[in-house]
Amino acid sequence: MNVLVLNAGSATLKFQVVRTDHDAIAADTDVKLARGQIERIGGEAVITVRSHDGVSSRHTAPLRDMSAAVEWLVEWATSGAANTSLTSRAELHAVGHRVVHGGERFSSSVRITPGVAIGIEEMIELAPLHNPHNLAGIRAAQRALGEGVPQVAVFDTAFHQTLAEHAYLYAIPYPLYRRHKVRRYGFHGTSHRSVAYRWRRISGLPKSDVRVITLHLGNGCSACAIVGGESVDTSMGFTPLEGLVMGTRSGDIDPAVLDFIASKEGLSLPQVEALLNSQSGLLGVSGLTNDMRDLLAEAREHNDRRATLAIEMFCYRARKYIGAYLAAMGGADAVLFAGGIGENSPEIRARICDGLQWAGLHVDTSANAALHHGREGKFSTTESTLQAWVVPTDEELLIARDAYRTVSRG
Ligand code: AMP
Repeated sequence: MNVLVLNAGSATLKFQVVRTDHDAIAADTDVKLARGQIERIGGEAVITVRSHDGVSSRHTAPLRDMSAAVEWLVEWATSGAANTSLTSRAELHAVGHRVVHGGERFSSSVRITPGVAIGIEEMIELAPLHNPHNLAGIRAAQRALGEGVPQVAVFDTAFHQTLAEHAYLYAIPYPLYRRHKVRRYGFHGTSHRSVAYRWRRISGLPKSDVRVITLHLGNGCSACAIVGGESVDTSMGFTPLEGLVMGTRSGDIDPAVLDFIASKEGLSLPQVEALLNSQSGLLGVSGLTNDMRDLLAEAREHNDRRATLAIEMFCYRARKYIGAYLAAMGGADAVLFAGGIGENSPEIRARICDGLQWAGLHVDTSANAALHHGREGKFSTTESTLQAWVVPTDEELLIARDAYRTVSRG
């Protein structure tokens, strides 16, 4: 089955075309036929695509909205230009959509029916920055491929629906949960699931025996405690603001700070929330950038004090979460690193792990240094009782496989 995978944002659209089926999933032989992203939708869009043979190309086109963007990519992917071997739209058999918020209603991937679309729409009040764009992607794909092509929603929150009540509730008056569904939802679920699943395949352990901590460290960052293939705790909460220090987000903070900053700085509460989302984290502390690569360079080359501090805060918070999850799970087999930082920065991985020797995690420095640019592998020593691995995340592949499974189940 050829699955078009779409991740629609406000002015961007990331996509892949993946060929997958039952045998390919079992043998890990799914084929990525094409991938790319369209940026600056709404004006003169910039399109970067990579075809099956590895050839990349850049285009520009006036794409007024998400429909025009999806139309462009469907035409490109099926016209021969992409070298996908697809020659008509009919060869795109299903579409898998990344949808950020599924609330409490969606605990797994589902085929999109009119009722499901309404459900995604109802979740807009919980994810106003994401769900409307995900819906626009769904409607655009329906227009481009017709109502007959099945579409599947894969939710960022669904994986964490297995959290127990004591883990997902905030200790606030219970009626606020009942009336407004104020609780921890967690995000990045597709990434955590993808990484944990892949490690289980590598380790050969039965699902029920696996206890791992996954760290998705990219521009957004989250940690997840996984027991027997199920999420038992995760660091993001009601929104993706809670938890680890991120590129521009503060992560955990005393909520009393919001009102204090608002009154001291003459800001409204929504303005303070925006400050915590987009001007905090690595950017806010360093005053320089949200980009970890640049921060590491600043710290190394110019000994910049605040860059060094931001990096230290980032690593310390991640280490604290590992400790918390070891306690929550009663120990773990492995800590798995993923995301742009987790996959590419031996230095950050080493700094996070330094101080976890008590838990049995000892870093093998040369193995750690060799893991970057999509390489998968272990970087803890053979004597370690808590292993450390880099397992690159592949959310698109998981979305394609979920779409295949959901559609073939009927
Ligand atoms: P993502 O959101 O997963 O694409 O990750 C983006 C983050 O990964 C940015 O902070 C990048 O600076 C960071 N990153 C990418 N490559 C490296 C690297 N070699 N060393 C440190 N950070 C990196």
